[in-house]
Amino acid sequence: MAFVTYSYSAPVSQSLFDRAAAVTPGGVNSPVRAFRGVGGTPRFMVSGSGPYLTDADGREYVDLVCSWGPMILGHAHPEVTDAVRKAVERGTSFGTPVEDEVALAEEIVHRIDPVEQVRLVSSGTEATMSAIRLARGFTGRSKVVKFAGCYHGHVDSLLAAAGSGVATLGLPDTPGVTGAQAGDTIVLPYNDLDAVREAFAAHPREIACVITEASPGNMGIVPPLPAADGRPSFNQGLADLCRADGALFVSDEVMTGFRASPHGWYGLDGVTPDLMTFGKVMGGGFPTAAFGGRKDVMDHLAPAGPVYQAGTLSGNPVATAAGLAQLRLLAADGFAAHGVVDAAARQVRQLATEALAKEGVAHTVQTAGSMFSVFFGDFGDAGVTDYAAARRQESFRFTAFFHSMLAQGVYLPPSGFEAWFLSAAHDERALERVADALPAAARAAAEAVPA
Ligand SMILES: *Cc1c(COP(=O)(O)O)cnc(C)c1O
Repeated sequence: MAFVTYSYSAPVSQSLFDRAAAVTPGGVNSPVRAFRGVGGTPRFMVSGSGPYLTDADGREYVDLVCSWGPMILGHAHPEVTDAVRKAVERGTSFGTPVEDEVALAEEIVHRIDPVEQVRLVSSGTEATMSAIRLARGFTGRSKVVKFAGCYHGHVDSLLAAAGSGVATLGLPDTPGVTGAQAGDTIVLPYNDLDAVREAFAAHPREIACVITEASPGNMGIVPPLPAADGRPSFNQGLADLCRADGALFVSDEVMTGFRASPHGWYGLDGVTPDLMTFGKVMGGGFPTAAFGGRKDVMDHLAPAGPVYQAGTLSGNPVATAAGLAQLRLLAADGFAAHGVVDAAARQVRQLATEALAKEGVAHTVQTAGSMFSVFFGDFGDAGVTDYAAARRQESFRFTAFFHSMLAQGVYLPPSGFEAWFLSAAHDERALERVADALPAAARAAAEAVPA
């Protein structure tokens, strides 16, 4: 891929990236951080405070990534940091149960109605992997339905036609996933209930579960279609089709949970899944995630039942303290923080649309609660409803837009296939800096030509 060279540089980040590339594949520990989708030097960050990040070259950015979602209260929130400090001083891991694990599980169970029991794990990948194992163990069936463009972490059987970094890098089916692992996965177009109906007809009582992002955010934001003309919403249709066949409906809320609304995407569409997965926000910036749902299904997990699942650092006391502090702060004063995040997101959305419209740049902004993303290109009235449409975006315009914003001190996700994230710390000053940067970035997008 050829990229324009930009007139500013980040020499310290570049030298760190060179060092990293010698000892780590591609110089990063998670692919999308490498800026392969947009080119240029990935910024090595050294600190974060509220809505800002500071890189190794000493430049400050308004952060619109928020660690890909977790930092919903902003960076280094004093009360979360305090909870972490206190936990660290008590000891960092015991390999025994601790009270905060119970409290975090209670917090989730009390807040998300369909979750009667929950198991804590250390990453979203682990949560979806374990949920699928449990669904297979519970139903005694092998096949799993997933949707093109949905990302559920790097679980072998779920990497087919996946979103996020897989979409950014345009990877075909991933080497290292065997035919047997991929063979039990049925990949269907998103928002297409007829395709799901046909899959159940073709494989009656063979499908263990349908897994979907509650509202996809890993191909850009592509919400599930709402109910219309006597047809159920996409998620309700999935729940109904699963129930009719005896399959489980697994809603992946790793990204949307505790972010899209106080009760995640479930709080917005009210469709009841059998199992749900969580991560990101619930960990408060630490590696903590969870899966949970119906008690009769969760009862099949070891040691209560025969489906094995475990983790040396599961429910780690520091991570649970951070997650618990963040969830409690989010709930304070009638979920006031969510109102702040929503308002900040609405403002950035509006500013971006205005700037792009002013330069005549065809685009569509899609939202899911406080999450949103911008697709460059003309998508008509329907907007982007599936992965095939998401892939038609004019990535070259996003690249120009991204680098202009970066040069002006606004850190966007380095890929057009990712959501933009705000926090309750994005105050007027931070939003003004975004507003100031948008006109030049919109002009850069307008003037961009395909590479
Ligand atoms: C981020 C994400 C995952 C994977 O979580 P990790 O903690 O990165 O393993 C799974 N599902 C969805 C919807 C996600 O957004």
